[in-house]
Amino acid sequence: MEEQLRLSQRLEALGQLAGGVAHDFNNLLTAMMGTVDLMERKLPANDPLLQDLESLRQSAQRAATLTRQLLAFARRQVIELQPLDLNKHLEASLQMFRRLLPETVRLDFIPARQLGTIMADPGQLDQILVNLLVNARDAMPNGGTVTIETENVLINGEYVRQHPWAKQGRYVLLTVSDTGVGMDEATRQRIFEPFFTTKEPGKGTGLGLSTVYGIVKQHDGMIHVYSEPGRGTSFKIYFPVVERRAVEVGPKVEGPVVGGS
Ligand code: ADP
Repeated sequence: MEEQLRLSQRLEALGQLAGGVAHDFNNLLTAMMGTVDLMERKLPANDPLLQDLESLRQSAQRAATLTRQLLAFARRQVIELQPLDLNKHLEASLQMFRRLLPETVRLDFIPARQLGTIMADPGQLDQILVNLLVNARDAMPNGGTVTIETENVLINGEYVRQHPWAKQGRYVLLTVSDTGVGMDEATRQRIFEPFFTTKEPGKGTGLGLSTVYGIVKQHDGMIHVYSEPGRGTSFKIYFPVVERRAVEVGPKVEGPVVGGS
């Protein structure tokens, strides 16, 4: 709990700082790109400097993309929660999710039969899924399987004693697992930190999972990750249930899927 609170506060402070810097930076980049345009127009068409200007423009554009992502992270939009059936929502977005993945990656969807209703913002849910799926794709360069699964779970006192990050209650559990490269303990500890990335420069911003973390918190949910090098990764997100379905199949306590922590 302590650790989660500290992380939330750090994310908040970092978000504000990043937002301020990104805003000013964006203005400077706009000025820079304007100057590049001007110089390009002044030079004769065969001037060798034009190539250098082009690479300057490309770098500035990459920097602009990064600052846009930073701004989106800092200004995490106000969320609008509505009663939602997670299965229905996922089914409707499944096509879009498939398009994010190459043909070598299989996407399975295993919906629970009767899912409780949660309060959620549909756009933000998609953002969670998109970030998790892109990471899963990157973790499986040689292909593999991503599984999206939903379940009704009951977290009880005993489970909380064993898993201090958990809070008691009824939840809809969304699990996104992959059969990718997994991560070691040192990486796993840091994945929710803004700007933490193990990807090559230009490939990762390190903002994906901190954004996911922020969205989950705004939904009053919990997120936990199980991962093992070479054995894949499993993200588990718990959304509090506001309304139980009449035909819910008995309470269930879930256990770790891959590895443990
Ligand atoms: P980015 O994707 O830009 O690196 P994220 O915050 O989304 O930023 O992820 C941070 C890091 O967490 C990644 O660089 C990677 O090391 C690790 N990671 C995230 N998801 C997975 C996954 N499914 N499998 C293995 N490693 C992962």
